[in-house]
Amino acid sequence: MIIDKVNDPIKVGVLGFGGLGQAAARILAPKGEMVWVAAADRKGYAYNGAGLNPDAVINAYNQGSVGYLEPDGTLSNNTIQDLVENHAVEGYFLALPNLPNTFMADVARQFIKSGWKGVLVDALKRTSAVEQLLELQTQLEQAGITYLTGCGATPGLLTAAAAVAAQSYAEIHSVKITFGVGIANWEGYRATIREDIAHMPGYDVETARAMTDEEVSALLDKTNGIIALENMEHADDIMLELAGICSRDRVTVGGVVDTRNPKKPLSTNVKITGRTFEGKISTHTFTLGDETSMAANVCGPAFGYLKAGVALQRRGMTGLFTAAEIMPQFVK
Ligand code: NAD
Repeated sequence: MIIDKVNDPIKVGVLGFGGLGQAAARILAPKGEMVWVAAADRKGYAYNGAGLNPDAVINAYNQGSVGYLEPDGTLSNNTIQDLVENHAVEGYFLALPNLPNTFMADVARQFIKSGWKGVLVDALKRTSAVEQLLELQTQLEQAGITYLTGCGATPGLLTAAAAVAAQSYAEIHSVKITFGVGIANWEGYRATIREDIAHMPGYDVETARAMTDEEVSALLDKTNGIIALENMEHADDIMLELAGICSRDRVTVGGVVDTRNPKKPLSTNVKITGRTFEGKISTHTFTLGDETSMAANVCGPAFGYLKAGVALQRRGMTGLFTAAEIMPQFVK
């Protein structure tokens, strides 16, 4: 299938305006094929059909909410619903925390109920969160929504790379994802760090969600700012299984996050091991450049998948897709 070219600039919104949401706004600014028209946080939203200015919106957010933006902001206790029902946006990147673990599926239900038609892209991480969306597959399809899930870095970019690399083999033995993330301070990415803490021994999503900022800082003081994780519940496994690459038990994900240094503690990579048709066992390795940030490796793919989703949507293809079954398109 050749996916149609997207001709008109796509009107894009970003839900959630923390670390990733703000990076998303900056990534979109120089693009010609997408125009950033909407942003929402917990307390308000901003909309301008001709395009928003990232600096102005970040400034308003730092005062408490994007809803303070003059004259395009609106304060609200129901930001997502109010934005979606009142303004024309073709696709949204959901840069929202998945706390609790049912939050993203609840947001998807909200979109279905609203009667909105368009493209949704998330950067969900947990297998159980993607499983909840799978249950909404038919409803999304009938509602006219094209929903692409797991479209960040891992899952996302690295899962898609594994799906491509698998093609050399007759059988896939293992997919091993190892990520290194460096950020200057944890407050820039509160949801990401809480969700990572939820994978630490002795913690779960609910305990991590309930932690105050002071408790998170105290925990990070004890670990010297480092979170080291292995055998994480990560949706790369279910996505590769659904794409027919290998069973989920052959996929493992772990990594190290340094919350006090933007330099990566190790190079993010995915290793795909398999057997070729000649019987040789081999490993392909795809390694991300150390200079690329988490924000670049999450938001870049998210918009590439959003563009692909719009092409699908314009051909009448709706429902749920994962980053392992659709090729992202490059946004100019
Ligand atoms: P953050 O904590 O920096 O920001 C979250 C934003 O969401 C805030 O602006 C907050 O106001 C807003 N928000 C919260 N509840 C809301 C609601 N009910 N309505 C509207 N807005 C609401 O978050 P972050 O660190 O940028 O992370 C966002 C998500 O991205 C997390 O779930 C994280 O796990 C995910 N992530 C995925 C990958 C990947 O590779 N797949 C990598 C990093 C982060």
